[in-house]
Amino acid sequence: MNRVIVSKFGGGLRADEGALADAERVKQAVEIIKSDPARRYVVVAAPGSSADGSIKVTDMLYICQSLFTNKENYQEVLDKIIYRFDDIVKGLGIDFDLDSEISSLKKSLLLGKVDKTVSHGERIMAKIFAAYMGWEYVDASKLIFFNKDSTLNEEKTFSTASEILNGIEHAIIPGFYGVMPNGDIKVFPRGGSDITGAVIARAVNADVYEKWTEKSKIYIADPKIIPDSEIIRQITYNEMRELTHVGGVNMLHEDVILLLQDVKIPINIRSVRDLDSQGTMIMSKIPEGTRKITACIAGNRNFKIIKVRKYGMNKMPGAGAKFFEVLGRHGIPFEHCLSGIDTMVAVLKSPKFDLRRNDILREIDETLKPDSVKIEKDLSIVAVVGEGMGTIKGTFAKIFNAIADASIKVRMIDEGSDDCNMLLGVYDEDFEDAVKAIYNSMI
Ligand code: ASP
Repeated sequence: MNRVIVSKFGGGLRADEGALADAERVKQAVEIIKSDPARRYVVVAAPGSSADGSIKVTDMLYICQSLFTNKENYQEVLDKIIYRFDDIVKGLGIDFDLDSEISSLKKSLLLGKVDKTVSHGERIMAKIFAAYMGWEYVDASKLIFFNKDSTLNEEKTFSTASEILNGIEHAIIPGFYGVMPNGDIKVFPRGGSDITGAVIARAVNADVYEKWTEKSKIYIADPKIIPDSEIIRQITYNEMRELTHVGGVNMLHEDVILLLQDVKIPINIRSVRDLDSQGTMIMSKIPEGTRKITACIAGNRNFKIIKVRKYGMNKMPGAGAKFFEVLGRHGIPFEHCLSGIDTMVAVLKSPKFDLRRNDILREIDETLKPDSVKIEKDLSIVAVVGEGMGTIKGTFAKIFNAIADASIKVRMIDEGSDDCNMLLGVYDEDFEDAVKAIYNSMI
C-alpha cells in the first residue's frame, strides 16, 4: 500500500508559528509538498503574521467584523487583508479571481456572519494554493460537519471525508471551519486548522499527520533555561499532553491528540526553517532502544498549595469529595492532588483562587471542620516526563541526587499516577536550577 501523508501549513496556536505569510513561504511549502509523493492532502491556514509586522489575517478578519458590528470604519482593515492576498497572488504570478473571493467575504461581513467572515482567511488561501499547484480545491464545508451543539459530527465527517478524498489523488483543503446542520459555516477554536488536519488525517487513515510550522520546535527542556537543549525526537501522545499541560507548551490543540491517539496516527511536528531535521514525532509507543528514559523536563512557576489537615481524615468517608466540592463550586480546577492519613493537598494554578480565597476558606471550615488549613505560594512544579520511567531502576535516585547536589529544597513530590511523569515542587526561586540539575543528570 502506498503511504499517505496529510500535511498542514500555516496557522496554529502560537502567533510566532506564522508560516504562509507571503508568496515566498507559499512557494517553499509547495516545494516541500512536491518533494514527497505521499503528501497527497494538504490543509492550509490563513496567512500568518508577516516579517513587516502585519498581524495574522484571521485577527484582521475578526477586527473587521467587530468594527462593522460597532458601526465603525472597517474599510482600512479590509484593505489590508486584500493587500495581503493580492501580494501573495502577484508574488506567485498566478491568474486568480481575487475580486469574487473578496465580494463573498464582504457579503458575509455585511450580514454579520462572523464565522463565515473569518473562514475566508483559510478559504482564499487554500484556493490560491490550489491554483498555484494545479491541485483540486475541496471546500471544508463538504468534509467537516458539526452537530447542532457545535461539537464535531465525527461519524458523518469521517465517512463523508473519507469517501470524497479517497476518490481524489491530491487535494488542498482550507483549515479551521466546517458546516452546521443548517448550512451555516462554523469555525473551530482559534488555531483550529490543526484540528482540521487531524480530522482529515483520520478520515483518509493517513500514515502520518505532518504539522509544518515556521520555527516551532519541541525541546527536551525550555531553551530559555537550557540554551543548547536537545530537540525531542520522539514523544508519546500521553507525554505530549503532560508537556502541554505542565510545561505550558502551546503546540497542539488537545483535540488533535484526542482525534489521532486511538487510531495511532503519528503526528510529525516539523519546521520549514530546518528541513534537514525530521522534527518531533508524536506517537503511541516509542520503539525500544531509540530513546533515553525521559522524554522531557517541563515545568512552570506560580502554583499554590492548599493543605487541609484533620486528624484521622483517612477514616472519614467523603472528606475528599467535600474538599474538592468547595473548590468546584467556585470554579477552581486543581492541577494535582496528594493525600496522607491526616492531610489533603490540592495544587492550584487558577488566578481565580485569590479572588475567592476567603469564601473558600470559610466553606472548608464549615464543611470539614479541619484542624488547620494552610496556603503556600511561590511553588514551581518541575515534571520529569517519560512513560514507564517509574519501572526503570535508578531513575528517581538520579533525579534526587541531582536535586540534592544543587542544594535545592523539595517542597512536594508526586510520583504521577499514570507512570508517565514525576512531579517535584520547589520554590519559584529554585525553578531554573532544578531544571538545569535534572537535565544535566538525565541527558
Ligand atoms: N487562522 C485560524 C486562527 O488564526 C486558524 C489557525 O491559525 O489554525 O485561529
